[in-house]
Amino acid sequence: MKYEVTIGLETHVELATNSKIFCSCGGHSSPKEPNDCVCPACSGMPGMLPVMNKKVVELAVTAGLMLGCDINRYTTFDKKNYYYPDLPCAYQITQLFSPICVNGKVSVTTKNGVSEIGIKQIHMEEDAGKLVHDDWLDVSYVDFNRTSVPLIEIVTHPDFHSADEVLAYLEMLKSMFRFGNISECEEGAMRCDVNLSVRPEGATELGVRTEMKNMSSLAAIERAIKYETARHIDALERGTEVLVQETRRWDDTKGRTFPMRNKETEADYRYFPDPNLMPIVIDDEWMDEIKAKMPVSADVKAKEYADAGISEKEIEMLVSERKVCDLLDDTAALGCNKKEVAAWILTDCAGILRKNALLLSDLNISAQALSTIIKKVGEGKINRGIGKKVLTAVIEKGVDPEAYIKENSLDVQVDEGFISGVIDKAILANPAAVADYKGGKEKALQAIFGACMRELRGSGDPAVIKSLLEQKLKD
Ligand SMILES: [Zn+2]
Repeated sequence: MKYEVTIGLETHVELATNSKIFCSCGGHSSPKEPNDCVCPACSGMPGMLPVMNKKVVELAVTAGLMLGCDINRYTTFDKKNYYYPDLPCAYQITQLFSPICVNGKVSVTTKNGVSEIGIKQIHMEEDAGKLVHDDWLDVSYVDFNRTSVPLIEIVTHPDFHSADEVLAYLEMLKSMFRFGNISECEEGAMRCDVNLSVRPEGATELGVRTEMKNMSSLAAIERAIKYETARHIDALERGTEVLVQETRRWDDTKGRTFPMRNKETEADYRYFPDPNLMPIVIDDEWMDEIKAKMPVSADVKAKEYADAGISEKEIEMLVSERKVCDLLDDTAALGCNKKEVAAWILTDCAGILRKNALLLSDLNISAQALSTIIKKVGEGKINRGIGKKVLTAVIEKGVDPEAYIKENSLDVQVDEGFISGVIDKAILANPAAVADYKGGKEKALQAIFGACMRELRGSGDPAVIKSLLEQKLKD
């Protein structure tokens, strides 16, 4: 018999805000040591009240618009009550009754074609803390740094029918959110629960659904889906076990899922409206403001770059990093040619980063510094090789390009009298090469030319030196 797998996803994404969702503690990327990013509000001290972070609403709306959702202009928060040591308030503030975004739709492309995935809703909520287990000492520690870090949860309809579709969707979310500065989506900042059921092909009723948690990478999600599909089919076909609706934990080392708990229902959490937070009303003015700040999509950016004459391969590298696109656009806005800037970034900057075992995403140079170097090379004030040397110093040591050029006298030497003196000296110092050249060995000129460039420490204009040198040797 043939079977059909049906999958729905709940994806949690940590938002790239500077502070937590209901207090002023730093956001997800701030903490260095356990519990160094905690205040009375996010550690659940009695009497503390939550204050909404406006940026969270804006990022959630932006994500909703990107995923084709309707935005609820009136949205409220609810308390989800349960006890766990990483949840100091013994409830999580989330949205059940009126989530901020609903009814979205996206298309995902796999080798089998395009599928439409319905987005049921996106809601805002706070993250829980983290338990750290020390098996050696047989103790567990609790770290509240992650408590109250803002999340959006994106809930899809059960519209996926293969692991390929799931992976394509998650890759798309990741690239969309990174490009939109909604989340960096680095490891741990994007977590996905997979609801899966299997039914004989053609059946109208869905099979028993299980929810899988604890997959820490896309590869683990793929493995978990394949394992769980096989487990369901085995149970249906050979009666190996009775399937029950439950939550299961994926163990990536063992390569299988284990029962965690019977699936709770909404009633188990005693949801009720949070009386400490006012409803949020998104009026037209605020909506327009958010829309005006919406980033162009990667596709629109790619087209813009293609029009500027940038190659397809280069575009692919550029649009995978929003930061790099911003650097390119800002540098171009300072009067540089886009195609030329792209070459500097993808060849020169990337080369320097590679030597330091860094990636393009680690590039840390201001548009101002990059444009200064590119312009100076373009105007012939420094030559290309020196340009690269300056770029290296800027990237590796964070120096100011203008000051660095000045301190190291790297400007192209334009004083013809001075250059002429250097050439005369080089001719006198290399009598053998001069004799060879005069005897017809054109290549011998290179030795004298090299001596001049060394003396000028690379700051000479090669064309000028070469022509002066030839002239002098003719006399
Ligand atoms: Zn706090």
